[in-house]
Amino acid sequence: MRIHDIHQRLADLGAKPLHSRRIVRAWLHGQPLDSGTRHQPSESFLPLAVREALPALGEELDGLARLRSEHPGSDGSARLLVELADKQMVESVLLPRDGLCVSTQVGCAVGCVFCMTGKSGLLRQVGSAEIVAQVALARRFRAVKKVVFMGMGEPAHNLDNVLEAIDLLGSEGNIGHKNLVFSTVGDLRVFERLPQQRVKPALALSLHTSRADLRAELLPKAPRIAPDELVELGEAYARTVGYPIQYQWTLLKGINDSREEMDGILRLLKGKYAVMNLIPYNSLEVDDYQRPDGERIVEMVRYLHSRGVLTKVRNSAGQDVEGGCGQLRARAVDVVNT
Ligand code: SF4
Repeated sequence: MRIHDIHQRLADLGAKPLHSRRIVRAWLHGQPLDSGTRHQPSESFLPLAVREALPALGEELDGLARLRSEHPGSDGSARLLVELADKQMVESVLLPRDGLCVSTQVGCAVGCVFCMTGKSGLLRQVGSAEIVAQVALARRFRAVKKVVFMGMGEPAHNLDNVLEAIDLLGSEGNIGHKNLVFSTVGDLRVFERLPQQRVKPALALSLHTSRADLRAELLPKAPRIAPDELVELGEAYARTVGYPIQYQWTLLKGINDSREEMDGILRLLKGKYAVMNLIPYNSLEVDDYQRPDGERIVEMVRYLHSRGVLTKVRNSAGQDVEGGCGQLRARAVDVVNT
């Protein structure tokens, strides 16, 4: 379901756009859909047909994203396994400091070799209302003041739905535009469409290597945009919106943690309006990849920092770890199937 469909349905029942927006806003903030004000009760402005339809609509919206299970992490984050209306499963993650990571697709077609979600391929798109429903669901647990689109899926492959959700969250959801973070492997459509939006989100670009050939191996179905070009496109967007690009680099031992790669990062990002997020790979027991040793990671951060690239290690159990996305769902599906 799309946000647009909700408005259309309410309009068909006779709701004015202003009132339709009020109903959607109430849903997003966890209030009763028919909430008016003391001076203006809903009976005074909503047609009877709309009021009569609201209880069923409320149930339907609640059913867009239901909590299946919760898995608290040690860092204040919590992974939420979320069931959609057709029983497909995605995950959202409550992040420290009122953040929330949401999923934009069931599965993903990019096929990053280190990602569990990529292994299942794309199962279906997540509608804009289902994306927003993840926020409404999370708000039952706590405040949400930042939303990162880094869960399951590649937002660029579901662009219309993601942009519709971003527009609603940034206009009616009390979330600052730079606190909406669109995360992508890089796609030309993103660089065309984002600058045209009323709500312009921050951008996180998954780089993972400075070498075009290695990137094609690690992200086999990502658009073939060379790292240099990706950074140029990112830089133009950062200067347009006035907040830096967050580059994502899943650290894989022996693959992209060499001195050559660190020098590659310097070549690409020195002087750029950028933050480099190094994300040590979240190793599973049976895995082809490993994270580098702690000492090596510290060394890399010092090396980049001292040469002028703002670098952070994202070592959390939360879903800002892209290398871990989909792992929870894969385990849950195992449980369901056995
Ligand atoms: Fe898709 Fe992100 Fe996984 Fe890559 S890391 S396969 S883009 S979900």
